[in-house]
Amino acid sequence: MPTKRSTDRARPPSVERVLAELRGTDAAVDSEAAAWTAVVRDVIDGERAQLADGAGARAVAELAAEARERLGAFAGAGIESVINATGVMVHTNLGRAPWPAVVVAGVAALAGDHVLLEMDPANGRRGARARVAEDHLIALTGAEDALVTNNNAAAVALAVGLVGRGGVAVSRGELVEIGGGVRIPDIIRRAGAKLIEVGTTNRTRTFDFEASLADGRARAVLRVHPSNFTMSGFTESPDPVALADLAHAHGAIVIDDLGSGALLDTAAYGLAHEPMPRERLAARADLVTFSGDKLVGGPQAGFVVGRADLVARIRRDPLARAMRPDKLTMAGVALTLGLYRAGRATAEIPVWRMIATPVAALRVRAEVVATRIGEAAEVVELRSTVGGGSLPGETLPSVGVALSVGARGSATRLMAALRQGAPIVIGRIEDGRVVLDLRTVEPGRDDELAAAVATAVASAVLAAPP
Ligand SMILES: *Cc1c(COP(=O)(O)O)cnc(C)c1O
Repeated sequence: MPTKRSTDRARPPSVERVLAELRGTDAAVDSEAAAWTAVVRDVIDGERAQLADGAGARAVAELAAEARERLGAFAGAGIESVINATGVMVHTNLGRAPWPAVVVAGVAALAGDHVLLEMDPANGRRGARARVAEDHLIALTGAEDALVTNNNAAAVALAVGLVGRGGVAVSRGELVEIGGGVRIPDIIRRAGAKLIEVGTTNRTRTFDFEASLADGRARAVLRVHPSNFTMSGFTESPDPVALADLAHAHGAIVIDDLGSGALLDTAAYGLAHEPMPRERLAARADLVTFSGDKLVGGPQAGFVVGRADLVARIRRDPLARAMRPDKLTMAGVALTLGLYRAGRATAEIPVWRMIATPVAALRVRAEVVATRIGEAAEVVELRSTVGGGSLPGETLPSVGVALSVGARGSATRLMAALRQGAPIVIGRIEDGRVVLDLRTVEPGRDDELAAAVATAVASAVLAAPP
């Protein structure tokens, strides 16, 4: 016996019906038909699924409105800016270093135009790619030559690639994971070289490198700065000069991966001394690699500085082309490095401005922000960290505000409200309270911060279960 099929279940309108509705208001429906049709299809698929779940049918105008909204969202970056009140200056999850304002403006001014990148203005012929960034690196580090890559991982891979299938000797204490699951041993293997592990986790001496260098297996010694952890207790690592002399005596090269690579002395600001590329070259490293967006404080990039013959060989490597940054990154790097040479780094590079801001200035700002937020806020002493794989365990005294949400509120709910606010505010939880560290907040955004926090506090208190 045939069962009665449910034929009265609503069906969504046709794609053409919704497009017709959109034509009334949106001129581009036909000239950009592919984009509009694709979105309308998605909206109708969604509607079909909803109807199957028993939801009521929506009007054609509502479906059209959803399609219009989705198209609008495609035109956004999908990445939102945030106020970083975590107290971590180079925050990996928040895009590391914010760019200096002159770098933002300089890059924006070039982005929409064609640029003189590889043309000699004197004769109009193809010229060498602009070398401003490299020239700055040479001046700032004392290197013979320099190369800019997409990131420091690329710089390390290219430097290690110099040995071909040869061996790269690394202390067992330096076989580190950089972050995001990326490990130095994997980079070495992927670069085609052979990893030679030397010494022990806690103690490695120059002598430990002797055997693999003497029999020619190790063609390079790679030193990796322990940038995101500290080791204490019964530890020892080789003297850099003695190790370099040993490597050179056996015809091997020394590559020093600094990670952050400070161009100013962090010790001048009450932090431990972060190694500087110039010092490592002076300590006879042949190549030093470091990041553009950690303590250098500019766009994401990697730098290889050192011996001219080695940098020239890297430049000829076809993989160097694959790891080459684009013109805007090159411009941004050049502008950032130029600030160091112009004597404007601590005033204008956000990361250095954060490091250099005196506690007294932060306290004044915190008082104002706390007053604006209202009675939920209290000025508190905090400790900020540099982050981004530099100076692990090191902190700077700071000041910020702690927020109370009453007996019924919760710190995690307030953090969520702050993450969903406008602008988005990212703080941290300390002793059960949300704290906002002003050292990492751009001073010009204090008012916006206070307003967003006041709104979030109100909503977090209201949303609290009774
Ligand atoms: C961060 C880091 C890297 C990787 O640099 P990216 O710029 O993220 O590619 C490599 N080595 C060390 C020691 C680092 O700290």
